[in-house]
Amino acid sequence: MTTEAANTDKIIKRIAVLTSGGDAPGMNAAVRSVVRTAITEGIEVFGVDRGYKGLINKDFHKMTMNSVSDIINSGGTVLFTARSKEFETEEGMQKAIENMRELGIEALVVIGGDGSYRGANDLVKRGFPCVCLPGTIDNDISSTDYTIGFDTALNTAIDMIDRIRDSAQSHDRCFVVEVMGRRAGYLALRTAIGAGATDVLVPERIENIEASIESVCEKIRDGVAIGKNHFIIIVAEGVSKMYEGGADRIAKVIESKTGVETRADILGYSQRGGRPTGQDRVNATRMGYYAAKLLSNGVVNRVVSMDNDVVIDIDIEKAIQAKKPFEADLFDMVKQVSV
Ligand code: ATP
Repeated sequence: MTTEAANTDKIIKRIAVLTSGGDAPGMNAAVRSVVRTAITEGIEVFGVDRGYKGLINKDFHKMTMNSVSDIINSGGTVLFTARSKEFETEEGMQKAIENMRELGIEALVVIGGDGSYRGANDLVKRGFPCVCLPGTIDNDISSTDYTIGFDTALNTAIDMIDRIRDSAQSHDRCFVVEVMGRRAGYLALRTAIGAGATDVLVPERIENIEASIESVCEKIRDGVAIGKNHFIIIVAEGVSKMYEGGADRIAKVIESKTGVETRADILGYSQRGGRPTGQDRVNATRMGYYAAKLLSNGVVNRVVSMDNDVVIDIDIEKAIQAKKPFEADLFDMVKQVSV
């Protein structure tokens, strides 16, 4: 752990753990690891159901070594998850803190995305210690190379596109495939690479959407000119949202501009579910273990991150302020490798 870490002046004896924001495969492996490590370090653990909403509604239950048995292999989250507007109000946040203090909880482990990190930082600012783990399929957290669930979602999306490719090839069609990621294009970009897509539209690289679509059409025309008869275009969810009519309309525009029959397919929520991959299970376990060790050493207000396959911890305030750089080299690579 890094030297600048904030140490509490007392030994932490009781913590709570929750999952928040969109569910991500591997969250369960992280919960299991936090619970088992903390208990063996002599820390009592309470699970909170439904994220920050559960803090407000007092949805606490004591966790044991057994309560996290048989979950490492399952997607979703056994602690449930939720988005809570009430938590974002001063009253909601104070209620959450009051409920934790009433139960003698001294620190909270939050497993979630960047919004959940902001929520944890608000608790920290009000004097309640937190440690965060990155749980999101979007991989849009600036402080870490890797987020729990990203690898599974990537593999799921690639697998689904492999199937779509069969249909595209059989019908001489173009498919516009919308991939999740909220406002970020990390999942779409890597999916495009892994699925061997013709082109990709990500929010980080759109200045003028019409011009970007025209550039995709140009690529399709070039492909037709060298005898290609089917195409896969990946569109990040964030791009669909900025274009009225979304992926369906993008497909229609491509068809009318290229003459290639084009269909849209929105992968949707199935990308979020399913059994976590080996990488997500291993990394979630490493990060959960690390988080519990921080707490057992009295270190709080940190986010657990991955830096070149090494687990590290970073100050929460710094972590949420940093902006994640876009993977421009990968984007350029797609443009060159794909036809
Ligand atoms: P994902 O992006 O994977 O869905 P996330 O954690 O970013 O995960 P959000 O819906 O953005 O998902 O955030 C989860 C919850 O965190 C929100 O419902 C809210 O309760 C809390 N939260 C989000 N942003 C803030 C904020 N700026 N301040 C306080 N709390 C916040």
